[in-house]
Amino acid sequence: MQLIITGGTVVTASTVTRADVGIDHGRIVAIGTDLGAADQILDASGRLVLPGGVDPHVHLDTPVMGTVTADDYPSGTIAAACGGTTTVIDFCFQMPGERLQDALAGWHRRADGRSAIDYGFHSVVADPRPEVLDELESLPAQGISSFKLFMAYRGALQVDDWAMLRVLEIAQRRGALVLVHAENAEMTHLLQQRLLAAGQTGPRSHLVSRPPLVEVEATHRAIALAELVAAPLYLVHMSCGAALDELVRGRARGVRVVGETCPHYLVTSTADFDRPGFEAAKYCYSPPPRQPGDQQRLWQALADGTLHAVGSDHAPFNFVGQKDLGRDDFTRIPAGAPGIEERMIMLYQGVVAGRLSLSRFVDLVATTPARLFGLAPHKGSIAPGADADIVLWNPHATLTLSPDVLHQRVDYTINHGRTVQGLPETVLLRGDVIVRGRQYVGTLGSGQFVRRGPPVL
Ligand SMILES: [Zn+2]
Repeated sequence: MQLIITGGTVVTASTVTRADVGIDHGRIVAIGTDLGAADQILDASGRLVLPGGVDPHVHLDTPVMGTVTADDYPSGTIAAACGGTTTVIDFCFQMPGERLQDALAGWHRRADGRSAIDYGFHSVVADPRPEVLDELESLPAQGISSFKLFMAYRGALQVDDWAMLRVLEIAQRRGALVLVHAENAEMTHLLQQRLLAAGQTGPRSHLVSRPPLVEVEATHRAIALAELVAAPLYLVHMSCGAALDELVRGRARGVRVVGETCPHYLVTSTADFDRPGFEAAKYCYSPPPRQPGDQQRLWQALADGTLHAVGSDHAPFNFVGQKDLGRDDFTRIPAGAPGIEERMIMLYQGVVAGRLSLSRFVDLVATTPARLFGLAPHKGSIAPGADADIVLWNPHATLTLSPDVLHQRVDYTINHGRTVQGLPETVLLRGDVIVRGRQYVGTLGSGQFVRRGPPVL
């Protein structure tokens, strides 16, 4: 064997076991005791041995609202790796008039030879012309088994119900999964126009123009559209209890709908909009932060299986030089927050607080995202035959978060000053150590494009 990881506690979505892990040719080949000899031994005493994280929701090197996300493939995937994530799925955006194939070629160029970890792409359908829908039929065969639709962003990314139905039909027929950003674009537009007319141009208006009702209406409608054509549906970045109620009702009547939330909804709230000056722009993402009661509902839903996955929705924009594009008009603040490196660390705080079991944590950050997006059985679990994407996690280490201690190439974190417990220390990608002591020691370009299979719901 190439390598044996000894003395650690192996955590999967269903078990927590003291065991050694044997690796050969980049794959896990044995789990147990007395595995024999190996070229190399990695001591994991006192550490948790976790599957590498699978982040199903990131935005790297992506044009947004007149600027570009602050992390590209090199910087963003190094940050992901340092946070314990070994596979990301990025959103490949279609520009108006563009073919999906050309958009995908552009995303391959961004990532090829420049990624620290493995990656795949969701295909964003923003301009659903008939020939684009024809193109969509062929994407699953190319390993692009998920499509993204925006109900939000009027006049830009928004697609109407007719386009949604057509895309859902194709996904149902071809074995793909449709991800939906569920916010009603017209409701937000009306409130934005009123706020601007009243001179309410500051960041707080981002919050006011996107109340829970905006998310709840679109969530209900997305589920109903999927129900009509019997297609599976993945709701990204669910933020509030009232939207979760729609998810629960949909599942109760048999709709194959699953939900994702993001760490920022677990730790930020409307109170962050009370910050002085323009500071609240750091919290301008869509949907916006909600009430403390919603945070409690989300934690409960993560624990009890109502929610299925945690994505970072990493969309980093510098506070100075990017967020301030909207200093005089909140509708021009680039929407998003960083978090690719903090995703697993922040969710692990749920383990520390006794809200989540270790296995549930692993399920939410790795195993279920891998399964839903056609990456299983190679990704998302510690099992014979799986890629040796492995994290040695120190459950006792602590860190006070700030941009200085993170690798994300952005000048703030929404977790600034928070002291966290539990950190990834050593990270392996297909058997090779790429992070040691929270520093990237791999070779850029060793991350590979992963052709994904059909979703398993
Ligand atoms: Zn997103």
